[in-house]
Amino acid sequence: MYRLRVKASRSYNVTISDNLNDFVSEIKPFIKGEKVAIISDNNVNSNYSGILDGFFTDKKIYTYVVTAGEESKSEKTYFKLINSLSKDGFTRKDSVIAFGGGVIGDLAGFVASTYMRGITLIQVPTTILSAVDSSVGGKTAINLQSGKNLVGCFYQPYAVYINTSFFKTLPEREIKSGFGEIIKYAFLKKSVSYDLIKQGISEKLIYECLKIKRDIVQRDEKESNLRALLNFGHTVGHAIESLSAYTVSHGECVVKGMKYALKLSKSLHKISDEKYLKVQELLSVCGHDEECSYSVQDIVNKMAYDKKSDGRKVSFVSIKDIGKPEIVKLDYKTIENYLK
Ligand code: NAD
Ligand code: ZN
Repeated sequence: MYRLRVKASRSYNVTISDNLNDFVSEIKPFIKGEKVAIISDNNVNSNYSGILDGFFTDKKIYTYVVTAGEESKSEKTYFKLINSLSKDGFTRKDSVIAFGGGVIGDLAGFVASTYMRGITLIQVPTTILSAVDSSVGGKTAINLQSGKNLVGCFYQPYAVYINTSFFKTLPEREIKSGFGEIIKYAFLKKSVSYDLIKQGISEKLIYECLKIKRDIVQRDEKESNLRALLNFGHTVGHAIESLSAYTVSHGECVVKGMKYALKLSKSLHKISDEKYLKVQELLSVCGHDEECSYSVQDIVNKMAYDKKSDGRKVSFVSIKDIGKPEIVKLDYKTIENYLK
């Protein structure tokens, strides 16, 4: 078992274990009210229905299952959940458990953060992506018709419990997507090494990734500067994701985005060919397809709509070497020239 302490506007533990019994000691102390809402999606529910209920024999459990997929991060599902909590008599003392991937984490997180101005939130991520990324750091959100994550807030959970056995039922696509995000950490710090990633998913690997995220979040909880480092590969990645109409997974898009970010970094920091090839090796560690079927022109045009863009300039995370990231602000023409 690994445990990590996050010191933010609310401080909390992240526990990583493969033994579900640890849930009792790590999570139960935070569940104080009478009622517990377990929010999950139909895939998680069909694999793990009732698995957490046994830990709450002294509480009233309400399970709310939403349709799996990004479409559930919507106004409609949000208000449905909020109304269900109200109808079922949830009070300020009661708790929400977000039991699922990043969609559930963001949605249930936003529900918990706004219901009665905020009730206890426990994150129990079930995808690799949500374990190494979205469950920690306190970002919650739903989407609007006009764009992703446009409504949300920073709301730190009371505790995070990661059980690696949940990953056994993940489809191949989701495993690959999660590893895309893990490779991102490997560029940010050497502690997530090529060798560690090659061994596959492990408690230690998740711990090392989250240590990087924790350290950044602690220094810049609300993303005024440093937290943007976690967007390495994402500026182009999001554009590709959007161009593909979300048919290519987030992690795959981030890998493609990192390839472009490296290309830009090479020109910007005058990285030698030899070092560049060495750094690039990391991209291939999980056998992702780095090729991209969209033109640089299309990608840059799409980036102009990215919410990270600031007038004509856009924030871009480049690296000088493995473990040496830097945030640069560049205009689109410069980016286009570097990416070509
Ligand atoms: P997801 O939640 O849609 O899960 C992916 C798929 O896996 C879904 O079909 C889900 O039903 C299924 N699934 C989940 N756990 C499973 C399990 N154990 N076994 C079998 N199937 C399982 O997607 P995701 O990749 O986990 O998260 C993506 C979301 O996270 C996006 O909405 C993104 O915006 C958000 N996100 C948020 C943050 C943040 O900081 N809040 C960071 C990164 C991403
Ligand atoms: Zn990401």
